[in-house]
Amino acid sequence: MRHIKLFEDFTDPGMGIPIINVTRERLSELEEEGLPVRTGVVGIEANKMAEKKGAGKPLDVIDKIYRCGNRFAFELKEMEILETLSPGDPHLIEDNKDRLNFMLAGNARFTVKNTQSGNRFTYRVRKLQGSEDGPFFVSVLTSPDMYTFIGTVFDGKRFKHSPKSRVGQDAQSVRTFDYVFRHVLAGNLPASIQFWHEGKCGKCGRTLTVPESIANGIGPECAKRMRDRK
Ligand SMILES: [Zn+2]
Repeated sequence: MRHIKLFEDFTDPGMGIPIINVTRERLSELEEEGLPVRTGVVGIEANKMAEKKGAGKPLDVIDKIYRCGNRFAFELKEMEILETLSPGDPHLIEDNKDRLNFMLAGNARFTVKNTQSGNRFTYRVRKLQGSEDGPFFVSVLTSPDMYTFIGTVFDGKRFKHSPKSRVGQDAQSVRTFDYVFRHVLAGNLPASIQFWHEGKCGKCGRTLTVPESIANGIGPECAKRMRDRK
C-alpha cells in the first residue's frame, strides 16, 4: 500500500497544468458521472508533492490518464489517502528552516502545540513596517481575535520579553515562545511540539492555495520575493 498526500482543488495558473480535486465526496461524484476513477483524481502538482514526500515517482502512482472535460483524470494505483488539503486549511510546518522562515516572514500567525501536555498558544509575529530585517513584534492570542504584545525579536535571533507587556515574563505563553523560537533557530524543536500555520501566507496574509505553499506557509510570489532578496 502506498501512502500519498492528495490536494484538493488546486489550479496552477502559471503552468496551465490541470489540477484535480481528490476529496472522497468529489470522488464519488465523479464516479456517479461515470468517470473511470478508482482511488482518486490527482493533479500533477500534487504528484510532484507526493514524489517529494517519498510516495514514489509521478508515473509510479498513476495507472491511467483520462481526459475529463478540460481537465485530466488520473487513475491511481492502490494507495491510501492520508490527508487531503484545501486552500486556507491550517497545516503543520515540519521543517525547522521553514518554520524560521515563516516566523520571520513579516506577518506570521501560527499555533504551537505540545502534544504531550496538550498546551497550545497562538502567536502573531509582525515585522516593523518598512524595515528589512525587523525588529519583529510578537503577540499572543489572548482571546478570540485579540492579540496581546509580549516582546520583540531583534536581529532575527534574540527574543526579548517587553517590560511594557501586560503579559508577565514568567507567563507560560512568553516562556513557550522563547523556547520555541530558540529551538527553531537551533534546528532542534522536539518532535512533541507541533507548529501549525493558519492557511495564510506568513508574509502577506493571503490564503495559501498551492501544495508547496501549504507545506511551508509562504505563497509562491512571496517565496520568490524572499529568495530574490537573499
Ligand atoms: Zn504571500
